[in-house]
Amino acid sequence: MLAEVIAIGDELTSGQRLDTNSQWISQRLGEAGIRVGYHTTVGDELEAGMTAFRTAVDRCDLVISTGGLGPTADDLTRDVLARVAGVDLLLDEAVLEHIRSLFARRGRPMPERNMVQAMFPRGSRVVPNPHGTAPGIDLEIPRPGRAACRVIALPGVPAELFEMWSAAVAPTLVQPQGRGRVICHRLIKCFGVGESELEAMLPDLIRRGRSPSVGITVSEATITLRITAAGSSVAECRAAMGPTEEIIHRALGDLVFGYEQDELEHAVLRLLYQTGATLATAEWGTAGTLAGWLGEAAEPGAYVGSVVVRNWPAAVAALGLPAEAALGAAASRETALSMAAACRKQFGADYALAVAAFPTVPDGHEPPERVHFAVAGPEGLRVDSALFAGHPAVLKPRAAKQALNFLRHLLLARLRSGRPEG
Ligand code: AMP
Ligand code: MG
Repeated sequence: MLAEVIAIGDELTSGQRLDTNSQWISQRLGEAGIRVGYHTTVGDELEAGMTAFRTAVDRCDLVISTGGLGPTADDLTRDVLARVAGVDLLLDEAVLEHIRSLFARRGRPMPERNMVQAMFPRGSRVVPNPHGTAPGIDLEIPRPGRAACRVIALPGVPAELFEMWSAAVAPTLVQPQGRGRVICHRLIKCFGVGESELEAMLPDLIRRGRSPSVGITVSEATITLRITAAGSSVAECRAAMGPTEEIIHRALGDLVFGYEQDELEHAVLRLLYQTGATLATAEWGTAGTLAGWLGEAAEPGAYVGSVVVRNWPAAVAALGLPAEAALGAAASRETALSMAAACRKQFGADYALAVAAFPTVPDGHEPPERVHFAVAGPEGLRVDSALFAGHPAVLKPRAAKQALNFLRHLLLARLRSGRPEG
């Protein structure tokens, strides 16, 4: 069974609002074992709406729409559906009563316009909306020579959509095979190599048609592998995914840092908890990116604080660096090292992670320079660097991740060597 999601509204096509309903509905359909083949977004216009629904009904067996069920002149979904199905609209007395009672509860008479929300295409089922005046419409649209297409139109207000879905839509999504099927995903998060390099390390996994399937996406240098399996239960899906996950772990080793919503800061914090160590950071180039991430992710405990500096006088003042340090190059390994050492001392933390100033962005032909980061810890001082190039929007998050990843590897090594707390 193939499904299509149609999002309706001028606020969506004009870019004023992001269509989050389609994402949510597709996730729910996936959980129900129903594959979504298309997302369509269309404005509040009769002809365009009819074209969108006709196209969807022709190519999919299930169509879910959101939006356009309000009482105003631009809410056209019920008219569009009646026309596409070739039926008229009928008044549903029970729904009219419900809408009247909602207004009565707010101490207001029902405006004439709201009556239209009690009109339903002939032959359709009402999807109740306990807290709103826009009920949904559940309608079978016949297709010559084929099984009918089921169309379910729901309101655009996310809270109403969610509630109606769980109460009155999800329970009715019966599978054609007559047994429930679920689709499960497992996300494996990796960092440290490029996307194509990582793909080359996973011979044959990322091939279309493989079961379970493995997909790869990259966001600001974090690579996510997504294993997808379908089965009759979550347990069956998990069992099917197990061997694939094993292969990935064996091939990638420490490139894997976490799962699902994990970010590098979560991985680092876990390792800090395991070693019972504390962390402070000193940032120049990344301008507080690390502080923001760690502050969001950490329970009070392992992460104790950060210093953010943007010039030498600030670095000297905030970190207690010797004034001679200010004679050095800001974007150097020496700067990263002295920031890390000073930060560890200032905070009295077990570890300090420092990012030096960013080098200038290379213009075209120049070989890219490097960004330096350092860790001061019980094992002494360590420094590393990474190429500094790429789109300006990713320079800070990527450098911050490279620094965190450097610390992650040092913490892993420490845990494996079984050294007691420094
Ligand atoms: P409607 O049912 O078209 O009157 O939509 C009511 C409100 O729901 C709109 O004003 C939006 O704020 C919100 N909304 C509509 N469609 C979506 C969508 N696809 N994703 C997120 N919010 C939406
Ligand atoms: Mg609308």
